[in-house]
Amino acid sequence: MKTIDTTARVLDGVAIAGEIKAEVGVEVKDLQARGITPGLAVILVGDVPASQIYVRSKVKTCGELGIYSEMLTPPESITTEEMLKLVAELNAREDIDGILIQLPLPKHVDTKRLLESVAPQKDVDGFHPVNVGRLQSGQPALAPCTPAGIIEILKRSGLEIAGKNAVVVGRSDIVGKPAAMMLLNASATVTVCHSKTIDLAKFTRGADILVAAIGRAGFVTAEMVKPGAVLIDVGINRVTDAAEVERLFPGDAARAAGFAKRGSTVVGDIEPAAFAVSGAYTPVPGGVGALTIAMLMKNTVTAAKARRGIAVAQG
Ligand code: NAP
Repeated sequence: MKTIDTTARVLDGVAIAGEIKAEVGVEVKDLQARGITPGLAVILVGDVPASQIYVRSKVKTCGELGIYSEMLTPPESITTEEMLKLVAELNAREDIDGILIQLPLPKHVDTKRLLESVAPQKDVDGFHPVNVGRLQSGQPALAPCTPAGIIEILKRSGLEIAGKNAVVVGRSDIVGKPAAMMLLNASATVTVCHSKTIDLAKFTRGADILVAAIGRAGFVTAEMVKPGAVLIDVGINRVTDAAEVERLFPGDAARAAGFAKRGSTVVGDIEPAAFAVSGAYTPVPGGVGALTIAMLMKNTVTAAKARRGIAVAQG
């Protein structure tokens, strides 16, 4: 792969995820010594290939760390009522500590109602309003995995958050909003931008820490970034247009070869030229995405401990 010609530091999400998984593995062993095996149930509805890939790697990681996992695969035709019953059964099970409903669900299923039906103490995705509220009020909470991963990357890389200007582009319930809340809890001065923001670059150029969670390939350009800023790229975008690949990765032979072979390449929300002017950045792939499953494992163990009144270390 062509390296970006820069002194910017690469924040290696794979290595940090490895550290976290190793720590979780030790916690699992401690629990097993007490006769407790943490358990995660994953509900995967229908036939969405991308979701199947995500769920398989979640289940695989559980196996590697000694966490019991169970995959439930109801058909696409399942109703909201039937899903609610499934979740109620998992809520009641002693051997299940975490429940994850893989999104997106089919259109006819009431996603909000379902997410609210998960017992908050088993809500390892951190989407239940109780956990959202706890996070907001600074109480111990199961926090959403991707934003929690962002904070881990910053902290474990020794990057200061307190007092920094953090700008989050994107306000989804899954990434943008909780990321902003966590940065605020860590004493950053936080601005949240979105599609209705006027003169976005005015805000992004003031960011010491810029989090891009937009879902548009290479949307944040070098001109939108303050030199030396920390860039956290959450975006995962599959680009299938050769001209777009050439625009984003001019002269990058390895990217071009990968694209020629697969017909697509995965790109973040920040253009690589912006990484070159940054102080530090998370690559795509190999940055934030690598943390999400590690944080899910961490949440599952946290849930297993909290439910049994075992002390949980706060990050
Ligand atoms: P989302 O729900 O579609 O939210 C996208 C956000 O970007 C919205 O708040 C939207 O603003 C904002 N936005 C869209 N166009 C914009 C523009 N032109 N200017 C400024 N803001 C704009 O997406 P998401 O679920 O948060 O995911 C964002 C990205 O992260 C995606 O690429 C996704 O694949 C990736 N992701 C990665 C992980 C991981 O594990 N690394 C996990 C989850 C998501 P409005 O609210 O005004 O529409």
